Amino acid sequence: MENQSNGGSEKISIVCQKEEKTIRFWQENRIFEKSVEIRPRENEFVFYDGPPFATGLPHYGHILSSVTKDLFPRYQTMRGKRVERRWGWDCHGLPIETLVEKKLGISGKKQIEEKGVRLFNDTARSMVLEYVRQWREMVSRIGRWVEFDNSYKTMDTDYVESVWWVLKELWNKKLIYEGRKVLMYCPRCETPVSNAEVSMDNSYKDVTDETVIIKFKIKPGQNFLDKLKIEKPVYVLAWTTTPWTLPANVALAVGGEIKYAIVESKKGEEFYIVASKLIEKVFANEKVKILSDELTGADLNGLEYEPLYEVQKVKNSGKKAWYITTAEFVSTDEGTGVVHTAVIYGEDDFNLGLSLDLPQVPLLDSSGHYNKDAPKFLQNKFYKEAERDIKKDLEDKGLIYSKQQYTHSYPFCWRCDSPLIYNAISAWFINIQKNKRRIIELNEKINWHPKYLQHGRFLNILDSAPDWNISRNRYWATPLPFFKCEKCGKFKCFGSIEELKKSSCNFSEVYPDEQNVDLHRPYIDELEVICECGGKAKRIPEVIDCWVESSSMPFAQFHYPFENKNKFESKYPGDFIGEYISQTRAWFYYMHVIGSLVFDDISFKNVVTTGVILNEKGEKMSKSKQNFPDPWKMINAYGADALRFYIMGSVVMNADNLSFNERELRETYNKVINTLSNILKFFEIYHTQDVKKFSYSSLTILDKYIVSRLEATLVDVTGSLDDYNSVKACRSIKLFIDDLSTWWLRRSRERFRQPGKDRDIAMMTLGYILKKLSFIVAPITPFIAEELYQKVKSDNDPLSVHLADWPKTDEGLSDKSVEGNMEKVKKIVELGHSLRAANYLKVRQPLSSVSFEKFNQNHEDFEGIILDELNIEKRVEVTKMSVPKETVSDKIKVAIDIKLDDRLKEMGDVREIVRLIQDRRRKSGLKPGQKIVVKYKVSSESMREFMIKFSKEICEQSSLESIEEDPSIEDGYEVSISSGDIKILF
Ligand SMILES: [Zn+2]
Ligand SMILES: [Zn+2]
Repeated sequence: MENQSNGGSEKISIVCQKEEKTIRFWQENRIFEKSVEIRPRENEFVFYDGPPFATGLPHYGHILSSVTKDLFPRYQTMRGKRVERRWGWDCHGLPIETLVEKKLGISGKKQIEEKGVRLFNDTARSMVLEYVRQWREMVSRIGRWVEFDNSYKTMDTDYVESVWWVLKELWNKKLIYEGRKVLMYCPRCETPVSNAEVSMDNSYKDVTDETVIIKFKIKPGQNFLDKLKIEKPVYVLAWTTTPWTLPANVALAVGGEIKYAIVESKKGEEFYIVASKLIEKVFANEKVKILSDELTGADLNGLEYEPLYEVQKVKNSGKKAWYITTAEFVSTDEGTGVVHTAVIYGEDDFNLGLSLDLPQVPLLDSSGHYNKDAPKFLQNKFYKEAERDIKKDLEDKGLIYSKQQYTHSYPFCWRCDSPLIYNAISAWFINIQKNKRRIIELNEKINWHPKYLQHGRFLNILDSAPDWNISRNRYWATPLPFFKCEKCGKFKCFGSIEELKKSSCNFSEVYPDEQNVDLHRPYIDELEVICECGGKAKRIPEVIDCWVESSSMPFAQFHYPFENKNKFESKYPGDFIGEYISQTRAWFYYMHVIGSLVFDDISFKNVVTTGVILNEKGEKMSKSKQNFPDPWKMINAYGADALRFYIMGSVVMNADNLSFNERELRETYNKVINTLSNILKFFEIYHTQDVKKFSYSSLTILDKYIVSRLEATLVDVTGSLDDYNSVKACRSIKLFIDDLSTWWLRRSRERFRQPGKDRDIAMMTLGYILKKLSFIVAPITPFIAEELYQKVKSDNDPLSVHLADWPKTDEGLSDKSVEGNMEKVKKIVELGHSLRAANYLKVRQPLSSVSFEKFNQNHEDFEGIILDELNIEKRVEVTKMSVPKETVSDKIKVAIDIKLDDRLKEMGDVREIVRLIQDRRRKSGLKPGQKIVVKYKVSSESMREFMIKFSKEICEQSSLESIEEDPSIEDGYEVSISSGDIKILF
């Protein structure tokens, strides 16, 4: 979608042109603004917009969320609510930082700092809003109404200050702490990344690594070996998928209750210790002798081994290292049943290290290169590239037992795609555990759509949530307002600019223009604060996790609590949010956490969770693979309404994935948008004078039926949209449109052709239906709704359908008995047609009689419809039929008399000829009613007699001047009927 603006050479369809005209109408008449302004402030429906990153172009995912975020606010507006919709931009964080690095032609923190944080952040600021135009274009074209100009941005000073405020609130509640934890870490971006970020867009990939089984030599002379009287070397075998961690090894872990065996090598020169269960797996290619398989891990506990590398810093730490210990996390699922432990580079390892007080010696620097404490041959090498050297070195020393290719799922940086490592680093956290019960309790107050997420996925996320790591070792984000005293080491948190100004001794030097305070790095880092002890305090270098910013939007967009106190309070919690499923562990989760911890309340009352739009084959849409149709092409071809209806009516709105299919989109266009448009065209053809005021009592049974169906549709759509179920609403609308077009309108066509009372009633009914329908479809398909409305509205009506009120349901218009009977009529007709088909009787061939049960109400009306639909002369009891053919379905019994006498055959033949002439008339472009002369040639005498007998009837039924025999016809259109063949020409 790189060149995705809509001005290219694409062919623009008519529907698309019409929609663009409607957009201009809305803009010129400020319909969106008016739709908000006319609703009272006291009756708000609060919508929170999850701010998108401004750094990329909009794609199907954004179209999906845009339509979701448009539909429900439009609906609530029509229900009388005031729905302010303000756009927001997520401006900070790794996505933009990665782009800045590219733009400046640099990579990594070292180069950023060489270039200067000021230049880096200035560049970021200048690039953040680069794609605003494309966003605006797409959002507007799709029909989403949102206040774009007055958007809030997470990089604004006001916004940042509100984020500081919330941190101070949490700080005061003692919910913020610094700690060393094992986190997923990107060595290229040199920052921890959260599990949520990595899982969100599934940044796990299957990779194949060469794993190794390492031989750790047990030091001789220990009791255990002496008892076994083994004099040859004994090795413990340990398996690792990350050989780069081996130089940092400080211990081996075994399972206390797991059984281990001592195995003699094939040549008998050495012995190995592995879990008994895994012997076959480990020694698959080698015949070995089992010396003993009765040991447990506990027996091995405390045994010392020779280190692979004698790291001085470990030796000098004064802590015990390089021994076997027991640990609960050891299993015999894979490997050797022995886990090599490097303390720093794994969560289990780190916790074990803490409990045993193992030395913690990092061998990598922050960019993933081996540091000065690492063995000489590794220093300054990138960890991943050094793996080869490590393996070679160990191989040379005879310490590798085997190597093996191994495929496993591995996390990658969601931003720069580098493989992540687990790394114990110092970071800042919000304590989640302390209030977890309350967080879970408050979830009960949220209305989830779909419902099952509440006690399914979301509850699981809450249950297993770790403390929230809020620090990032980066540059372009809200700086954490924590200052550390250089003298006493005490921390202080600042919750406002004012507080900081008061405590700082150089505020006016750093910020000479107080009206223009940029809280970003590097300026903020220059501030000095005086500690109570008299020492100087400076800000810690970390910036904030962007999810703290985006989840602060309910208050930070208003610069609360510094401004707009009432405004925020009247708009909290929000009534509605809607995003895709991955936000359950991101924005939804973080919003809920902030709401729970800071306000002891929910942040949002209703949440719509969508799935993901995949390509036709069910694959992830990928810009580089170009494996999906350009959304602009789709809009240009089928219009935004069709796309909206297709998406809103699909499983994606129930949090399932949708495989986007152009064929289905086209079908939606045909069945919904184009059908409506054709009905409207029909209305316009006959709409010569004012439509009569709607009067229910004058309606025919057919009209009462469709009016009642519309009422049922209104009730259904109202309930569905109240319930945030757009799928149900769409289904209901689609069924109605089909009914309107293929039943009511098709059966009413003849009524429109002759001026008179019946035409007036049909016209009145259609006008009434189109107007009401325009309201019902307005939230989902705002364009065609406007088009319909503009053609049927009267002078006193609001200017736009989107300024109108949602129709009230009216029981007086509902007639369930008519609806039920009409469904029965349709069923009888369907059965009648299938009986005809089974007996090879064309619909054009009139039949004498049909049998069905009498209707309890309005029998004649229903009977009339059935006879006309089936082309049958009368209803009789089945006992009166000559050759009855009968069928039953759903307790409805239908029989037709298939006996054809001469009279019926002749009638059928006349119809056949009339149809042929009508068909030719249409194909040659003649107007209805235009008189012509038709010539014919017959093949037999009986055919000639037939034509003489029926020429008058044929002329009448097909608007002919005359029909004359002409034996000289060579070409012509031929038809066979029971009296012979006939050719016609005109
Ligand atoms: Zn990265
Ligand atoms: Zn101090």
